[in-house]
Amino acid sequence: MTINVRVLDRPVEEVSYVRATLKGMAMTLKHFVNREKRHQVTVQYPEQKWDLSPRWRGTHRMLTTESGKAKCVACGLCPTVCPANCIKLVPGEDEQGNRYPLVFEIDEFRCIFCGYCQEVCPEEAIHVGQHYENSEYSREGMVYDLERLMAQTHPVSELWDPADPKGE
Ligand code: SF4
Ligand code: SF4
Repeated sequence: MTINVRVLDRPVEEVSYVRATLKGMAMTLKHFVNREKRHQVTVQYPEQKWDLSPRWRGTHRMLTTESGKAKCVACGLCPTVCPANCIKLVPGEDEQGNRYPLVFEIDEFRCIFCGYCQEVCPEEAIHVGQHYENSEYSREGMVYDLERLMAQTHPVSELWDPADPKGE
């Protein structure tokens, strides 16, 4: 039985790998010498740092009232919604019936920085923040208690706005 094999006759400029390689190298060289438009992808950290996006989600902050108390009212929403189960809350209540956190801890090591805690908080108390320099020598060191969360001073994150999906 005879088998007919169809031989495609493609122009040499379409099949030549030499041409494609040279084209790629020319593009690389163009970006290498064009200092103005060259996109810098590394910086001399820690002397130099990138500007973080307003939506960067990092180390948490607990915001405080004018009197310096945590804004948290121990409603329990953030530990309920947290997908990483990394928020520990023990609620307390004063003589007037106001709730407050007796214990409030976030394990920054387990956190996946989804931002749900910030989104759900009715008091706008807990926030993810524009901060990432929180390395520690132990896992325990990554558990931030209320005092430590209140002591953070970095900018808080802006959350994604569904009304402006492409916006910052
Ligand atoms: S950012 Fe997400 S994972 Fe982290 S503590 Fe908040 S809800 Fe939990
Ligand atoms: S959602 Fe806000 S008010 Fe409620 S427990 Fe969490 S931080 Fe406190």
